[in-house]
Amino acid sequence: MQDKIWLSSPHMGGTELKYVNEAFAANWVAPLGPNVDGFEKDLETYLNADVKVGALSAGTAALHLALIQCGVEYGDEVICQSMTFSASANPITYCGATPIFVDSEKDTWNMCPVALEEAIQDRISKGKKPKAIIVVHLYGMPAKMDEITAIAEKYEIPIIEDAAEALGSTYKGKACGTFGRFGILSFNGNKIITTSGGGALVCHTQEDKDQAVFLSTQARDNAPHYQHSHIGYNYRMSNIVAGIGRGQMEVLHDRVEARRKMHHFYVDIFSNIDGVEVFSEPSEDFYSNHWLSAILVDAIKTGKTREDLRLAFLEDNIESRPLWKPMHMQPIFADAPYYGKDVAEKLFDNGLCLPSGSNLSDDDRARIKKVITDFFIK
Ligand SMILES: *Cc1c(COP(=O)(O)O)cnc(C)c1O
Repeated sequence: MQDKIWLSSPHMGGTELKYVNEAFAANWVAPLGPNVDGFEKDLETYLNADVKVGALSAGTAALHLALIQCGVEYGDEVICQSMTFSASANPITYCGATPIFVDSEKDTWNMCPVALEEAIQDRISKGKKPKAIIVVHLYGMPAKMDEITAIAEKYEIPIIEDAAEALGSTYKGKACGTFGRFGILSFNGNKIITTSGGGALVCHTQEDKDQAVFLSTQARDNAPHYQHSHIGYNYRMSNIVAGIGRGQMEVLHDRVEARRKMHHFYVDIFSNIDGVEVFSEPSEDFYSNHWLSAILVDAIKTGKTREDLRLAFLEDNIESRPLWKPMHMQPIFADAPYYGKDVAEKLFDNGLCLPSGSNLSDDDRARIKKVITDFFIK
């Protein structure tokens, strides 16, 4: 059996251990220290939008804190893009709130502004104005932020941007994660850069960041003894993993370039295959990090399904995966309200994510290309 080719695997740059060793040398083996501060500064500089970043234990934790800081409480409703990973929606339920799912549009596969407004109006007419809107930049593709922001402002509902997959992506030149009241990032093992596990909350004021750090470190009031007036969480990032993050920030630019190169590799291959569409930016306004390259297979035109292709890859020990199964189709969210049509459902039926790692070799690409051409052309 040939070596496994993964969808997206960790790719160290080389300087990560230097920062980790510094932490050991100074005994900063704790959820605070110079690497946490340095990693936050690196992210703020990279996002380049006068933001304040709080490093946390996970992207999921960042979403939970963003909801709390938007005032989401038991019995509230929160709008969430249906086409996403479950971690976008789960924190809504941690707050005792109900997710209201919204369909995608075809250009970016992200939240449909028309369905969003329909959802807001209907929820208001039923007596509850949604407390927040969670919009996702799926696979690194920026959502239609102008349209979504206009609706959010019209109804005065804060946006939480799930940019877990979109570090390095921009919309009209501005970094994904910096548009909403809050943005969240993830550094899980499969993301464009990783700290092994970790996340960050992107804020626009020092007060919001301070509050996030306060809540993420058990909400300790200012007193010599342990004094608490709020429920706290243990969500702060460790100084050890932040060291990995500092090293990864030094190569983030290269990682984005490499992922985008993988996208163009697929665009080239599929330009000769009728009935397969590579997920691409709809216009110059959108700049995707192409965290994962994805395709849509037209079963009628090609006479094949995305599942057939997935199995052909598997045969050669190559990992590929169907697109996220929409949240409104998940058993756990069967009772949650849903607004829109069948765009997300059709994407799920026909879409496949392809190996996209920044560490794939020319040999790996040759194997991938051979499976695809044998499958569609022979
Ligand atoms: C990875 C991911 C998350 C969760 O991030 P973690 O750091 O794994 O908690 C949230 N939303 C999306 C869209 C993701 O891909």
